[in-house]
Amino acid sequence: MKTKVKLSFHLILTLALWLVAAQGAWAVTETRTVTFYMDGGASSNTSVQDDWTLVSSGKTIYWSNNDPSNNKITCKSDKKTTTFRANVIECKGVIEFPNLEGTVKSVALTNFRFYDSDMQMYIGLDKSNTSTLLHLQGITNDYDFPSNNTYDYSNSATFEGSVAVSASNPLKIMFSSARDDASGDFSFKDGIIAITYDVEVEDTSDPGHTFTFSASGNTLTATCNQTSQYHNCNLGTSRESTLTLTANDASFDNQRHSATLNLTDFSAETGITDIKTTYSYTNSATSESSGTAPNLIGDYTVTVTIIINSDNAHPYMLTTNFSILAGYNVNNSYSQFSLSKSSALEGEEVTITYTQLMDEILEGLTLTGATSGNNIAYTQSGNTYTITMPAEDVNLNATITYPLNENNITQSGDTYTIKNADGWNYFCRRMEVDGGVDGFNGKTVVLAGNITVTTMAGSADHPFKGTFDGDCKTLTFNYTANKANCAPFHITNGATIRNLHVTGQIEGGIWLYNSGLVGSANGNLTIDNCRVSTLISSTFSGTAFNGGFVGLLSSHYDQCHITGCVFDGLIYNSEYSGTTYGCGGFVGCFSQYGYAILEDCLFIHGQYDNNNGKCELWWGNENDKNSTFLHRSNDYGEGTLKNCFYVGTRGLKQGSPAVESTTAPTNFAHLGAPTNHCFMQTYGRLIVFNNKYYTPTYGDMVETYDFRGVKSYNIEYDDKPLGIPDITTQLRVPLLRYKRTFTNGKPVTVMMPFNFTKSAFKKSGSSDGLTGHFYEFKGIHLDPQTSKWTAEMGEPDNPETTTMTANTPYLYVPDEEPEYWYIYNDGDGVNIFTEGYDGGNKVTPYDGTADFAWNKWDFKGTYQPRYWSDSENPEEIGKVYGFAGNTKDVDGQIVLAGDFVRAKSGAKIRPTSCYLMWAGSEPSNARALTRGAAATEELPQSITVKLISASGETTAIGTLDTKTGEVTFDSEAWYTLDGVRLSGKPSTKGIYINNGKKIVIK
Ligand SMILES: [Zn+2]
Repeated sequence: MKTKVKLSFHLILTLALWLVAAQGAWAVTETRTVTFYMDGGASSNTSVQDDWTLVSSGKTIYWSNNDPSNNKITCKSDKKTTTFRANVIECKGVIEFPNLEGTVKSVALTNFRFYDSDMQMYIGLDKSNTSTLLHLQGITNDYDFPSNNTYDYSNSATFEGSVAVSASNPLKIMFSSARDDASGDFSFKDGIIAITYDVEVEDTSDPGHTFTFSASGNTLTATCNQTSQYHNCNLGTSRESTLTLTANDASFDNQRHSATLNLTDFSAETGITDIKTTYSYTNSATSESSGTAPNLIGDYTVTVTIIINSDNAHPYMLTTNFSILAGYNVNNSYSQFSLSKSSALEGEEVTITYTQLMDEILEGLTLTGATSGNNIAYTQSGNTYTITMPAEDVNLNATITYPLNENNITQSGDTYTIKNADGWNYFCRRMEVDGGVDGFNGKTVVLAGNITVTTMAGSADHPFKGTFDGDCKTLTFNYTANKANCAPFHITNGATIRNLHVTGQIEGGIWLYNSGLVGSANGNLTIDNCRVSTLISSTFSGTAFNGGFVGLLSSHYDQCHITGCVFDGLIYNSEYSGTTYGCGGFVGCFSQYGYAILEDCLFIHGQYDNNNGKCELWWGNENDKNSTFLHRSNDYGEGTLKNCFYVGTRGLKQGSPAVESTTAPTNFAHLGAPTNHCFMQTYGRLIVFNNKYYTPTYGDMVETYDFRGVKSYNIEYDDKPLGIPDITTQLRVPLLRYKRTFTNGKPVTVMMPFNFTKSAFKKSGSSDGLTGHFYEFKGIHLDPQTSKWTAEMGEPDNPETTTMTANTPYLYVPDEEPEYWYIYNDGDGVNIFTEGYDGGNKVTPYDGTADFAWNKWDFKGTYQPRYWSDSENPEEIGKVYGFAGNTKDVDGQIVLAGDFVRAKSGAKIRPTSCYLMWAGSEPSNARALTRGAAATEELPQSITVKLISASGETTAIGTLDTKTGEVTFDSEAWYTLDGVRLSGKPSTKGIYINNGKKIVIK
């Protein structure tokens, strides 16, 4: 029941509020308290109006009973007592509050006496109807306060609830008793009756604006029509505020030009903050519309649709026109000058501001019309210059000088020389401000001493474009990464860096593309003769793209060349092992079409220490892990690796594995002058670095991995031979190339460490089998009549199918000039072995059909370079014959090309070539050839070579070069089929040999 009353009351209140609001007056509920001080008037807060009426704050208490003349309110101020006389039961007394209106929420009574027993007190409207009564505090179903038999003033009681009262139906304090003789004494001593009640009062606050809106052209007008007398409208007499769409003509500057609304002012004036706007720009020429502001020259109409207070049903549209005009520019190439706008219309002001960037000096500034050449007037205030834009572009020319501190850096023509770290910092700073050097393009910067720096050279806007020559000095570069591509040379474009050793520490953190030398390279990049020993750390879990020499390579095709360089630094994770990958020993990452050409380079795997902050990378011999030289991501980037070696890589293998030794290889003395790469020397395939020698594992048979990690072996036949070591257990080789220069028709001696058929060998760039002819050694003959010595070389009976025997010398006559041969066997490769021979030489001994017992000859192949001198194989000098490649004068005698010629001191032969050696014993026959030095005198100076085809015909006669092992045929020489050389072209009919071919003279 109580709840229902409350609901009813609130409904009434709400209705009343609506009614008031509709009448233009606003009502609010106010909670008030009136306190009656029941202290006999001692405090004077409650006054006595008459014997039955007390007044406090204008509210009255009226003592109503059936015998007013005898029953009055008695106040004794000296005792602070207020007493309702006499017996409240007997006189049927009721305490009324006749002028209290509102809703009573609580009545609190303190310090009263309610004597004697069996009486009840109620507060409300009707003591017989609990729905009109307040209840005792905290007890919702207890509506009466009972009397007690005490005679002091110790009682207090609080009634609560919600009871609407009025003059016609006033709040009452009522009493009852079931006993007629209850004494009914009700009295206060310094007590109170405090009544808290809600009253409805009129609201006199300002209700704020109420607006109506109207849109016209580019203006929205909000008009306030608030009629409340309490509204203080601050919008002036018009009571209007306007929202205006503004779009100014602009000069073309590649920027977008938007229309604007004065929303901030409008919101401040009107208090409206919920304003949604949608712009549309229409090109007048094309009628194309876009929500994005235009940036191109043209005439435009802009429309904005405005929704206020989410009233989607009533959008307002404003429109205006503007143009983007061509405008004029100030042409400025100085980083010290900034412009207030990049273009301007004629008559607009442009402010030019000069900012000193280092210690340069601005000597003068001129502004000239780009078309007219007229000087453009400007006003100067400090470092700002203001012009009024003429109807033409303006050229800005400044004279700026950059003083050099010659203790730090000097200049001579196009060469700058850095002397110390301050000089390096000047170099970096000068480039960064683009102080007339264009990234040192066309200039050479030389390092004059070892320095330690912490500043990067070059940036994206100002890359290093010149040549840096380290002069074999050391640059110690320490840096904690704060961006990508951290390196001594942060960004380059077309740079050359040479003769520089870099070391130090780069703390890469989470940043990518860090590098020991170049962070990011555009255009050409040439790195010659450099060494990087830098420690490059990362905390990045993933693909870090760090590179020993280059972080990111953007150059295309063959624009990156790295030659004669060593990496002996370390790329690592400073926290965890096995998390960082995607790094390259030389290049960390390629852009698409990136290409690197590496030659004569060395990668030395550094030492990791997982317990001391030099944790290992995430290894794997795969393209997407880490790579020895060139890391490729997304298959971007390619490269060639020529004569590049590594020691102990754990990433993708590229280049060739090398053996490190502190002692020089046996052949070292023969390798001649090295190529000096500043920090290392190369002798062909031998690299000397840091007093150590690096040679390929199998010498001249080089194990090689291309940039994709594809493995092959390459027998390198050149003039710096290392020799092929003994391979005594079979070595499976997937792909083998024999790289030797061949000349059509020019025989060579050759020996291979595996069995093969001629057709199993392919010519470079082709899947066609090898052609040409192989010949075996048949013997040496002396013609007693002519005293001519002839070596016979016979082709196998079935030249195409006969298997050439491993480790056996042959003569080969090419009929083409392939770059190299290769053997692949459909991926099965070939088994390499040199087992079963002595000292690296294979011997095909003379077959024993000697004309003389001492006429014994061996045809020998070798895997080692072989030298004859006073100190090396001196006993063989005079007995050894090699092919003479050319006709030559030997000790005053003409030796014809096409003969074996006797080797002298200084002769040499390369691996996989063959030579002829007299192997005779002490003579025992009539010729009484004397042994020792004299014996060799009996040997021929040269031996003619006769080639015999499979069909038994002599097909060619030639000579073999003693040094190169290569055979040539003298095109002027004519031979009989017996191998007898004629003085010239024969006139007698018959078959002859000329230029390696059979010729019929008719
Ligand atoms: Zn207003």
